[in-house]
Amino acid sequence: MYRINKNGLSYYQSRFLFRLESKILLLLFLMFSFTVLGCGGLKPRIYKTGSEKIPEIICIKTGFTNAFLIPAKKGYLLIDTGYADDYDLFREALSHQKIHIVDISYILLTHHHDDHAGFAAKLAKDSNAVIIAHKDAIPRLSQGKNDSSKKPVNFCVGVFLSIFSIFHNDAYPEVSLKASDIIITSDDNTILNEIGIPGKIIETPGHTKESISVVLDNGHAFIGDAAMDLFSICMCQHRPILVEDEQQVFSSWRKLKEAGAKTVYISHGDPLNIDTLLN
Ligand SMILES: [Zn+2]
Repeated sequence: MYRINKNGLSYYQSRFLFRLESKILLLLFLMFSFTVLGCGGLKPRIYKTGSEKIPEIICIKTGFTNAFLIPAKKGYLLIDTGYADDYDLFREALSHQKIHIVDISYILLTHHHDDHAGFAAKLAKDSNAVIIAHKDAIPRLSQGKNDSSKKPVNFCVGVFLSIFSIFHNDAYPEVSLKASDIIITSDDNTILNEIGIPGKIIETPGHTKESISVVLDNGHAFIGDAAMDLFSICMCQHRPILVEDEQQVFSSWRKLKEAGAKTVYISHGDPLNIDTLLN
């Protein structure tokens, strides 16, 4: 039977609109929930490593991204920043931990995306920190814009990201490297040790070609977006929601394990055991 309701819509049109609205509400809910995952809130989370050299790691989450502070010989190494607009929140979180902005001596960017490099330029200026980045990240960092050629890992994620992109502008203040900054060109065993952090920097491409990770000698690894814990509803299974080369994602996970990673700290979600990725 073909019924018309008081809005002039047929029963089927009304049902379709109801279902559409429900899906949009669900997506908005998911968008909200993915901003609260991870180390959470302005009060930084402290992770105890159980090792003598680096006994604890401080996680600060502003907006959408987990940023990690690792104590170095002088001050701290910060791994990734956050969206440009989250700089004030980040500073607030630092003061919560009684850390001054000038205590950040190094900023390592795992890749160029706006949720990782968003306030890097401002922070580097205010702290005078040395930036550590991969050579292939430099062109995008200097433009202050995401490379939009990356593909969603599956159709479901694609739908979600299409909606997200309506509300989101991925431009951020350009990050121009100084002569004193450090450019990574391949796997590196020396830089971290030189600044008092026992560990190495390795290339972990797949999400982006320039993605790098930090693997500490104590097995704690900081891998940016090499893996994620997002959109389980879309069956992402810890793959990044955007990929440049999916096979490289899996190779990078194996490489992390071979490099000694045991606990991996991801930028979006809680830390994972490396075997969770590989099994
Ligand atoms: Zn990313």
